[in-house]
Amino acid sequence: MSYYSPSIEKLIEAFEKLPSIGNKTAARLAFHMLDASEEDTNEFVQAILDAKKNLKYCSKCYNISDTDPCPICNNQNRDHTIICVVEDVRDVVAMERTHEFKGVYHVLHGSISPMNGIGPDDIKIKELISHLMEGQVKEIILATNPRVEGEATAMYISKLVKPLGVKVTRIAHGIPVGGDLEYTDEVTLSKALEGRREL
Ligand SMILES: [Zn+2]
Repeated sequence: MSYYSPSIEKLIEAFEKLPSIGNKTAARLAFHMLDASEEDTNEFVQAILDAKKNLKYCSKCYNISDTDPCPICNNQNRDHTIICVVEDVRDVVAMERTHEFKGVYHVLHGSISPMNGIGPDDIKIKELISHLMEGQVKEIILATNPRVEGEATAMYISKLVKPLGVKVTRIAHGIPVGGDLEYTDEVTLSKALEGRREL
């Protein structure tokens, strides 16, 4: 049974649905929101609604963006002949933080994982291939996470892409196995990028 009134309980439950938020944190956030001014509350709610409404996928790289194409794809100072292939939009942010990569991206939105019923057609591999078919790209850097699924995805893409005459490289190890790009520090990630090897 709950000691909270139904409205508070509902708010706590909403926070609990967020990743890494346990019951205690959810309660703390809920009470924090109740103490917030009406203006702050409206701003918070509006920010979520606006983000949901305005954000879309870039039709070139499938990164999340307010505009299509996204600012990275639209930037003519970047090298459009080199694509860094990542699993998640947050990995783009991680790579950008290194300030080392001057090319463009392709976001797969997942990795191949037969255990979870995710096959090549469930992630943005076809879209990558059709981008490469345009003939402008000289190299793709596979920067999928160094986990079983990430490695399998890198191997699968490598086999598909090599016959197209595009150079395929894999970021160097140094990122802990089983780790996430997202949580890897900038120096390690820069080194992994610099030490990439051809597959
Ligand atoms: Zn883009």
